[in-house]
Amino acid sequence: MINIIRKINIGVTLILNLFKKIIQSAIGQISPPEIGKVRVYARSEHTISRAQISENALKVLYRLQKEGFDAYLVGGCVRDLLLGREPKDFDVVTNADPEQVRKVFRNCRIIGRRFRLAHVHFGREVIEVATFRGAGESQNDGQVLNNEGRLLRDNVYGTIEEDVWRRDFTVNALYYNIKDFSVVDYVRGMEDHRNATLRLIGDPHTRFREDPVRMLRAVRFSVKLGFKLEPDCEKALHGAAELLASIPAARLYDEVLKLFLYGYALQTFESLRHYGLFQILFPDTERSLANEDNGFPRLLLIKALENSDNRIADGKSVTAYFLFAAFLWEPVRLLATQKMTEGQVEYMAYQDAASEIIARQLRYTALPRHISLAIREVWSLQPKFNNCTGSKPSRLILHPRFRAGYDFLLLRAATGGADPELAQWWDIYQNASETEQRKMTQPSRKNPNSKSGRKRSYRKKSTTISTGTEVQG
Ligand code: ATP
Ligand code: MG
Repeated sequence: MINIIRKINIGVTLILNLFKKIIQSAIGQISPPEIGKVRVYARSEHTISRAQISENALKVLYRLQKEGFDAYLVGGCVRDLLLGREPKDFDVVTNADPEQVRKVFRNCRIIGRRFRLAHVHFGREVIEVATFRGAGESQNDGQVLNNEGRLLRDNVYGTIEEDVWRRDFTVNALYYNIKDFSVVDYVRGMEDHRNATLRLIGDPHTRFREDPVRMLRAVRFSVKLGFKLEPDCEKALHGAAELLASIPAARLYDEVLKLFLYGYALQTFESLRHYGLFQILFPDTERSLANEDNGFPRLLLIKALENSDNRIADGKSVTAYFLFAAFLWEPVRLLATQKMTEGQVEYMAYQDAASEIIARQLRYTALPRHISLAIREVWSLQPKFNNCTGSKPSRLILHPRFRAGYDFLLLRAATGGADPELAQWWDIYQNASETEQRKMTQPSRKNPNSKSGRKRSYRKKSTTISTGTEVQG
């Protein structure tokens, strides 16, 4: 009975979709994937080899197939494999529902309340297995119709032809079929891939409205892949940034990490600004950029992003809190300066400014508490670097955030916000023997923090704005 209802449901949806397609093509829109127009690229017609695919992903695919289900790789992994790049993760899609998937794998957990997914765990690697999503143009269709019941939730599952329409870009909607190692393409994604084009499936305005995060994905993929945005997609992107404001801050935080922590931060930043998206994510930072002064603060941001990209290129790790500390430093500095002109003492002005700016940023990107604490630590270490005499330096280098704080000092020194001599002093101090360290911390003329060096402004033009180095810790 349940199956009959499901089939009727799918049938009705298919008929409705067919009508929609006819209307859309009549008014000149790009139509959704058309059933029957599928192109199948045999193994000899594409470059994906199993040697490039994670062993665990292959295990999942083969196992599902053995149990009689359809199983495909889909999304970014197929797109990246076709470029000869190592995918970030491997996503599997199947006609098995999550319960069926769970029965196949012992090491499997079901996640998600609204759209349930299976996570198959292999040590640290997780292969996400999704069931084909059903018809409907909004991500939420199935969920709005549904309550919590099993049967209703079933309605969000569908066929591969429906699943295609749920995806964002044509190059993200290519399916690698484990049955015959072919690539299945309903949306001319292979052509777009060859032409290095990012094209939304369907009408770009509608797809961005449906899920504004796709705008961030458009920027991220175009930068990361070096693909151009298809003109209609680009047109729709201009002036649509405000739509992002409706997205929950927790989701935006996750997206921000993907935008800035994977090696293309600098170009992504420029592109987000170009499309007016950055101001929605970091309004205070955007406002502070208008106050450019002798290349500062924009330089600091650019340098931070550049460093982070270089670290990733060298196989080093990057942290979210360091980047956020860089993004929000100038807003904090400006607000603290304002508070000082209103009569607040420097230390309190910076403390309060830091709290206010972080609280404001939380409205846009929900930073977890450990991240906002770490940001504050990096900031509050900055004035402490001014103490180069006595026992304070030896205590400071034991601080758990010393390294990040020192890197931040370097960043400021490299971009006109702190004394390069001070940064150099700390560089030598860290690597010196204990005896040398003791000598270095004796008050002397060479000490950058001796009386003559203190309270210097390192900004070439402006002397009225505090650099923040002077804050008393
Ligand atoms: P990467 O993992 O390299 O960041 P990806 O394309 O795999 O890129 P994921 O977030 O892993 O991105 O999503 C996997 C696939 O799910 C996408 O390729 C796309 O087909 C689909 N998808 C993800 N997010 C959306 C969205 N907001 N709208 C439509 N489809 C989406
Ligand atoms: Mg992915």
